[in-house]
Amino acid sequence: MLDPFSERAKDLLKEFGSINEFMNAIPNIVTIEEVIERLKVVKYRENANNFMDVQDIRDLAQFYALLGALAFSPYGLELELVKKANLIIYSKRIRRAEKIRPEEISLPIQLAVEFPIEDIKALERVFRGLPEYTIKISEFLELLPGEKLSNYYIYRGLVYLKKEDLMKIWEMAFERNTEKAVNLLYEIRDDLPEFYTKLLGEIRSFAEEEFKARFKDVKSGILKPEFFPPCVKNALKGVPQGLRNYAITVLLTSFLSYARICPNPPKRNVRVRDCIDDLKVIKDEILPMIIEAANRCSPPLFEDQPNEIKNIWYHLGFGYTANPTLEDSGNSTWYFPPNCEKIRANAPQLCTPDRHCKYIRNPLTYYLRRLYMEGKKNAPKGGNKGGKK
Ligand code: SF4
Repeated sequence: MLDPFSERAKDLLKEFGSINEFMNAIPNIVTIEEVIERLKVVKYRENANNFMDVQDIRDLAQFYALLGALAFSPYGLELELVKKANLIIYSKRIRRAEKIRPEEISLPIQLAVEFPIEDIKALERVFRGLPEYTIKISEFLELLPGEKLSNYYIYRGLVYLKKEDLMKIWEMAFERNTEKAVNLLYEIRDDLPEFYTKLLGEIRSFAEEEFKARFKDVKSGILKPEFFPPCVKNALKGVPQGLRNYAITVLLTSFLSYARICPNPPKRNVRVRDCIDDLKVIKDEILPMIIEAANRCSPPLFEDQPNEIKNIWYHLGFGYTANPTLEDSGNSTWYFPPNCEKIRANAPQLCTPDRHCKYIRNPLTYYLRRLYMEGKKNAPKGGNKGGKK
């Protein structure tokens, strides 16, 4: 298999019925040890040869096992490692393939067949051979927005690509598809078998060793409102009457609390007291932000609904109360931030997507992604570049 997001891969996945069924079947197809071996190509490049001819289903199972683990920690060192290892494996396979058929790769390419006679000689001279593939200009620019079109041969709205050009845009598409798939699995992570959380632990140990201090994992810590998603920023500004309870009690309360104290919940039904040992962080940091946003609503939420504060504690998992103690956490469910689809259905005015929303399906993963991108931008260069140790 040349690409786990190709049409060929999609056809194989369909044989399992749904993605949930495939994810449930994976622990019967591959072992944790074998999946971790796949990651080790980052450290020992020559090991990639062991993954060149893996049977298609096994290959997909190893790859999706890694994505399933990432569903429990979508943005961090683990994502870096998984992307890096699989880029090594799949790009090596694509490089050694003589001719790539469009259905084998997750790019809207076609084989280049049409060249104007008068251009052929010039093309052979400039490119040392004729380009082999084409892609529409719009699709090319979507994947490589900063790329100069003047470096390519363009004919009838198509960009002509040599294999190396193809590799460059394929890598962009692969990274994007990986992120989208992880976000999809994030939605169903509560239904995934324990196999994936165990695998995540193994990936984490290896990632920490491999990346050392290159950049920091997303951990709980002081909130960075500049990276909040538009819907949360809209809720913080205050909203009109019909939207107040959803924006403040449902969205803000869940988003701010998870983002501040438990951005990557370690298990299902996590309680606040599993993440902090003092209510100070809620009382001094999270509640003031919620109350200020509620006061900016028109009319201010707590003025005509003073009991709504109890509902906030209820959504934080402390039961319906105004003065909880930490021990009360667990008396109700700590609500997880609703996904984008639910927000659009219940409060469409809150959803004013920006370019980052394209990758995510939940406001919390939007925030984690922005922190991760920022961490990557500011990470010291260098670190472990792979190679034999
Ligand atoms: S797409 Fe999602 S994260 Fe972005 S504004 Fe809409 S609801 Fe918020």
